[in-house]
Amino acid sequence: MTSPNHFHPRAHTLDARRPRALFPALVPPDSRPTIGVLALQGDVREHSLALEAAGARPVVVRRSADLGETPGDRIDGIVIPGGESTTMSTLLGSFGMLNPLRELIGTGLPAYGSCAGMIMLADRVEGAEEGQTFLGGIDMTVRRNAFGRQVDSYEEDLVAPALGAGQDRPLRAVFIRAPWVEDVGRGVEILATTRAGRAAGVGGADGGRIVAVRQGALLATSFHPEVGGDHRVHDVFVSMVTRRA
Ligand code: GLN
Repeated sequence: MTSPNHFHPRAHTLDARRPRALFPALVPPDSRPTIGVLALQGDVREHSLALEAAGARPVVVRRSADLGETPGDRIDGIVIPGGESTTMSTLLGSFGMLNPLRELIGTGLPAYGSCAGMIMLADRVEGAEEGQTFLGGIDMTVRRNAFGRQVDSYEEDLVAPALGAGQDRPLRAVFIRAPWVEDVGRGVEILATTRAGRAAGVGGADGGRIVAVRQGALLATSFHPEVGGDHRVHDVFVSMVTRRA
């Protein structure tokens, strides 16, 4: 008996995320990594567009079933947008996603957290509300609302070669009631600092504040790179995910 797939052996590969039934694929399988965007609050659409521009396939994550059982099952990585970390931890809890997501991150699911997402990925948080829960994963202390009061936002052109932003093409970083990183453990790479803490109107620091870090498969920024259509931070995250997948 001749197999209808005889001349298309690659089309036989079974992939739970892309079940193709019994017919040969007419187009090559999608090789882009599938990256979830946690859609409880924040710039879900902007992150999805930036991921797409960075060569990934974004999918919306709204409930625990969307997370899958293991890294790579439903998603190869996840973006945790900004918002309000207190609300986000409450919502993650009430949607039954806090523990599954914490476990996935613990078993190697790459994650990128921006602003409130950075807070969620911190092992230690200053200024947390009582009873506030976090995902953790990055050995750092993050200070909530460090740049100013509720209404404050702050912008700076960051020179950060690790994020593809050299002197010639700095990265416009938008901080909205943003945290900064107070200290990091030895395994954490510092990817970007502000030029001077004073510029944020908070005083006290002559040097810059740490605003982008990476530890293993986890990436976090204090700022919102998704506003303004620049996808260099997403490029970095997508390449972290691709390396693991
Ligand atoms: N201040 C917020 C918090 O503590 C973060 C703000 C943001 O994500 N833009 O969660």
